[in-house]
Formats: sequence, C-alpha cells, structure tokens
Amino acid sequence: MGLVTAATIAIKGATILLGKVAIIPVLIAALAYFNYDLMDPEHQPSVTKNLRKEYDFVVIGGGSAGSVVVNRLTENPEWSVLLLEAGGHETEITDVPILSLYLHKSKVDWKYRTQPQDTACQAMVDRRCCWTRGKVLGGSSVLNTMLYVRGNRRDFDQWESFGNPGWGYDDVLPYFKKSEDQRNPYLARNTKYHATGKILIPLHIHKSMGILYIKL
Ligand SMILES: Cc1cc2nc3c(=O)[nH]c(=O)nc-3n(C[C@H](O)[C@H](O)[C@H](O)COP(=O)(O)OP(=O)(O)OC[C@H]3O[C@@H](n4cnc5c(N)ncnc54)[C@H](O)[C@@H]3O)c2cc1C
Repeated sequence: MGLVTAATIAIKGATILLGKVAIIPVLIAALAYFNYDLMDPEHQPSVTKNLRKEYDFVVIGGGSAGSVVVNRLTENPEWSVLLLEAGGHETEITDVPILSLYLHKSKVDWKYRTQPQDTACQAMVDRRCCWTRGKVLGGSSVLNTMLYVRGNRRDFDQWESFGNPGWGYDDVLPYFKKSEDQRNPYLARNTKYHATGKILIPLHIHKSMGILYIKL
C-alpha cells in the first residue's frame, strides 16, 4: 500500500471516528509505514500469470469453505488446482480484528442490500439492510468478528431427517473437531465435543495451485 493511499485511509478514518477512536488512523498509518504486509506470512498468494490448459480441480471462491477445500486438495502433489476468486488481496486493515466493522461497505464487501422490508430494517435507509459478504481472498471470514460458533445440534438432525444421510450432528461433529484447536483448558477437557492441536482454516499455497483473481 502506498503512503498516499495509507494517508487517504487514515484521513477517512479520522473523519468518521474523530473524537471516538482517534487511535485507529494512527494505527493504520503505522501498519502501512512498517510495510506490515511484507512481513505477514499469510500474505503470500500471488496471481497466476500462466494458466494451464486444464486443471484437475477448479474451486470457485476462496472464502472460508473454498480455502479449506483447496488446502485439502493440494495435499496431493499430483493434483493441480485452480482457485478462482472474484475479490482481491487482503490489506493491512483486514488483519486487525477490531477494525472489521470498518471493512463493511468497503471494496472487500460485495455491498449487497436487502429488498425493502415491511417488518424489518425499519431504521435503515429505504428499509433496506446491508447484507455484508466478503469479496476478497478469505471471503466473509475477512470481515467477520471471529466468534467460534457451531450450528445447533437440532438443525443438523432436522436436515438429516429431511432425507440427507450423513448430515446429522453426530456425523458432522468429527469434522468440527478435526478443524478445531481448542486452547481453553476448561473446554479442551471435554474431548467429546472439542479437540486441540488441529489447524483452523489454513490456506497453504502449494506449487500445484494457481490463484486467479477475476473481475465481476
Ligand atoms: C459481518 C459478518 C460477521 C460474521 N461474524 C462471524 C463470527 O463472528 N463467527 C462466525 O463463525 N461466523 C461469522 N460470520 C459468518 C462467516 O464469516 C461465514 O459464514 C463464512 O465466512 C462463509 O463462508 P463461505 O465459504 O460459505 O463464504 P465466503 O467466506 O463468503 O466465501 C465466498 C467467496 O466466494 C467468492 N465469490 C463469490 N462469487 C464468486 C464468483 N462468481 N467467482 C469467484 N469468486 C466468487 C467471494 O468473493 C468470496 O471470497 C460473519 C459473517 C459476516 C458477513
């Protein structure tokens, strides 16, 4: 990020948040000044210059789900994988959890809005709520508030009862645990529901993998 861009963001932040959280523009400018993105080990994906004629797998969308799918597929070095992502790279700001609300309606948001509502969104302009979704490598996990929330057991069991074998809570629980790294000793003791030492949503860039950012 250039210093001019950083300064623009800092001024914008100061205008919005002046008097409330004046530290934020200073923080953003500091992140830009110290070239934080160059030191960030997760900031390494690069756009593929030479597309192959064919790939074994093409994954569309590098969000929470797509990143995991790509990561698993690239564990097999024999397979080539192309990840197509409509958004771009993350920025310095996206790595600061407390700034996630600042990202809403920014260029990393699809900026969806609901249709006018009769019984909801009454305080919103035109009675339309913003429906935030990430348009960036990392998807909505880049804009979210990082709460670890599992679905309700009864929802999974109901989906299974509708004729979807394998989607019951007991079927999906091993996969929740497989992707969990529970560090809270009190919760980690409960090994029926929690697991420690697993990696949560990694995006390993393997040499067989290409990323192509596409403009939509
Ligand atoms: C504001 C907000 C706060 C949240 N807070 C939490 C929280 O605290 N805890 C929690 O567990 N969950 C939270 N969530 C929910 C969680 O982030 C999402 O459920 C999760 O990220 C969805 O993952 P996904 O892979 O289905 O979709 P996404 O992560 O949204 O990924 C979809 C990806 O596909 C890309 N894409 C879409 N269309 C195309 C196309 N045609 N071509 C190429 N690429 C495309 C998008 O750009 C995006 O990168 C929050 C969500 C939001 C929006």
